[in-house]
Amino acid sequence: MSERCCKMVFDESGWHKHQCVRTKTVERNGEWYCWQHDPERTARKEQERREASEARWKRITNQTQRTAAERAACEGVPTDVLEKVRVADLLEENAALRALLREWFIAGAEPLEDLVERTRADLNIPTNLG
Ligand SMILES: [Zn+2]
Repeated sequence: MSERCCKMVFDESGWHKHQCVRTKTVERNGEWYCWQHDPERTARKEQERREASEARWKRITNQTQRTAAERAACEGVPTDVLEKVRVADLLEENAALRALLREWFIAGAEPLEDLVERTRADLNIPTNLG
């Protein structure tokens, strides 16, 4: 009895098949397979690939729907108005940003770049984030 995996695999040309050269390690339904061609392993791998693919497709679909909804909601609104609304939203959401701008307006004299750098340090934001 052969010590090799029973799986028939394509050679490098992709035209011819030969028996897998790996040592058999696991028996499934009376046939012996190597670790790679173990039918339980290949089924598990296929299931993982399918789930990853479905998750990716779901993300893309959600993003596409979101973009379409945003476009529809912003139809006819000038870009500069959208930018102002976005800044207002950011200020609404971000207390640290609000405090930064308030301080900047009150202090006035300090260059904005220095204030940003100091605030970055206070908030432990890495400088390489831009
Ligand atoms: Zn094999």
